[in-house]
Amino acid sequence: MAYQVTLIPGDGIGPEVAEATKRVLEATGIAFEWDIHDAGVTALEKHGDVLPEQVVASIRANGVALKGPLTTPLGTGFRSVNVALRHALSLYANLRPARTYAGVRSVFSNIDLVVVRENMEDLYAGIEFDTGQADTAEIIATINRLSPRKVAESAAVSVKIITPENSARIVRFAFDYAVKNERKLVTSVHKANIMKFSDGLFLRVSQEIAKEYPQIEFNDRIVDNMCMQLMQRPEDYDVLVMPNLYGDVLSDLTAGMVGGLGVAPSANIGEQAAVFEPIHGSAPSHAGKNEANPSAMILSGAMMLRHLGELSAAKAVEEAVAGVIAEGRQVTYDLRPDRDRSKAAGTSDMATAIIERLSA
Ligand code: NAD
Repeated sequence: MAYQVTLIPGDGIGPEVAEATKRVLEATGIAFEWDIHDAGVTALEKHGDVLPEQVVASIRANGVALKGPLTTPLGTGFRSVNVALRHALSLYANLRPARTYAGVRSVFSNIDLVVVRENMEDLYAGIEFDTGQADTAEIIATINRLSPRKVAESAAVSVKIITPENSARIVRFAFDYAVKNERKLVTSVHKANIMKFSDGLFLRVSQEIAKEYPQIEFNDRIVDNMCMQLMQRPEDYDVLVMPNLYGDVLSDLTAGMVGGLGVAPSANIGEQAAVFEPIHGSAPSHAGKNEANPSAMILSGAMMLRHLGELSAAKAVEEAVAGVIAEGRQVTYDLRPDRDRSKAAGTSDMATAIIERLSA
């Protein structure tokens, strides 16, 4: 039976990399019924809404979505359509694997890390008070009444929310991922030495949950030290779990360690739905030119296959992508050492080369 999957081609280079991905996934022999929807600027132009309700409803019904990048137009009331989608579907876990691909330029080699980022709370919960506003003055007055540390009246305030429930949920997700994917170590990343209550809570919960998984090693690192360790001894780490803000920063750091946006897939996973997407944006300057690198979205498709339990197809896609990149002949300009567009493969040619490897 075919898998019902919501497909959001997205904006900018999205439709091109989405088409390439669709072709590769179909070439695995697994059957899909694509429920295709617009979101972002494309949806705004066609339906007057960046995130039409039917998109969210389709993902809820299918449980799985493959999504291209979305442009958040200014002045729509959304900070980010992507964040709105994650919140609408309670996609609490952001999963960002970073793995070295031979043929992708990087100062690091043999990197194989997974960042698990909490997606719903922390400083990104969106609870903010602007400088000079009446409600901000009320918040500051309350803090100054209750806390020995005083806040300047001119301050802007962002609230950091860490709950034991959401911390436990994300840490458990990281351990379950480690068990399922035969990983050995989970590292909890925090700044509990300074933020003793919020990050202290995250660390305590991490330590408690770790006891439930005696087969997986556990340690913790302060976030600044974690950055240095990743630069010096990345081979000592495996699965890294952390609150939202650190996860945002560290997942870009690890993506940079394996050569950047072109090969960085991701997943946003919740209890009822999962959305798979490349981490890159809509790169409007490359749109419509058949020159964008489809690898990140194809690898996101492989993550989706894994999520669906299609492990051998997932592995085959990952190996085919790795093979084409390592060979270096049918790759997009960004993967060429000379970045010469005239000698590079187009988006669709690269997908064809990946498909040929799949069937070889
Ligand atoms: P971007 O990722 O779109 O582009 C940054 C640069 O990276 C581009 O100029 C391009 O040179 C390169 N690049 C990115 N993807 C590439 C690919 N597949 N192949 C070749 N080169 C690639 O980031 P940006 O310019 O900051 O953002 C553009 C738009 O994308 C914004 O509207 C932003 O809001 C949106 N965005 C969306 C998502 C998402 O949907 N998840 C993520 C990030 C940014």
